[in-house]
Amino acid sequence: MIQRKRTSSRFNKLAGKEKLKCFFCKKEVEKMNYKAPDTLRNFTTEGGRILPRRITGLCSKHQKVLTNAIKRARIMALLPYSTRGD
Ligand SMILES: [Zn+2]
Repeated sequence: MIQRKRTSSRFNKLAGKEKLKCFFCKKEVEKMNYKAPDTLRNFTTEGGRILPRRITGLCSKHQKVLTNAIKRARIMALLPYSTRGD
């Protein structure tokens, strides 16, 4: 019986690279709300979509706050829902 070593592919990926640290935790930015659309715009695509956590590298807490802030900014017309004119 061959014993297979259990390895997680995710762990192996992280082993080589240095771990992404949350931008807002690192900088200790307290203010992240809909009133600062320029900061929020860094976390959206050109088309206006919110980037997922695996790309932004934020912690779950800050990603959640960011998502809400972007959604509020859209309602206040500070950020676009979409820039694709379909
Ligand atoms: Zn964070």
